Amino acid sequence: MDTDRSNRDGDVVTARIMEMMKESGAHLEGHFKLTSGLHSGHYIQCALMLRFPRFAAYAGEKLAERLAPSKPEVILSPALGGLIIGHEVARVLGIPFIFCERQDGEMRLRRFPHPGKVRFALVEDVVTTGKSSGETARILTDGGADWVSSGSIIDRRAEGVCEGWDLVSLWKLSFPLFEEKECPLCKEGLPLVKPGSRPG
Ligand SMILES: [Zn+2]
Repeated sequence: MDTDRSNRDGDVVTARIMEMMKESGAHLEGHFKLTSGLHSGHYIQCALMLRFPRFAAYAGEKLAERLAPSKPEVILSPALGGLIIGHEVARVLGIPFIFCERQDGEMRLRRFPHPGKVRFALVEDVVTTGKSSGETARILTDGGADWVSSGSIIDRRAEGVCEGWDLVSLWKLSFPLFEEKECPLCKEGLPLVKPGSRPG
């Protein structure tokens, strides 16, 4: 495969995803306190983009194209964030979609029988630390399934996090994150918004 060409195609996809995030109100700019406690000038809530089925379909198609070479037989996602995108990817590939969910603090495959020794791809909306991804995948690998690939709309892993892991994404975020003490936005006196609560 022509690497230059696939890089260019990747840039086009990323640009389109960035537009969709802005257009749908999923990408907010301001001053945010993230779940990690760090401050950021950007906040992305994928659900706001995925509420538009045509955007979800586009992201699903592009992720499916990149996961197809690994020949998965099942798509697995963690609820709730991975539900829509996982389903879209599975629809394009023509394979089943199953999801796991947290019950009493642990990820479980509550509603589905274990698919056995199948090849599966893990699909998420956003990957931050990779911790829940590993926890999710283990549910199937523990039963003998083969974890062949992973994809997310957004990869917002910090540098050095799960480096050896081959994660396919449509947009690799590199917005700077700040400790509260060193946050330039705090110094400017911008009001701090905690995502999840309504901005403004
Ligand atoms: Zn701040």
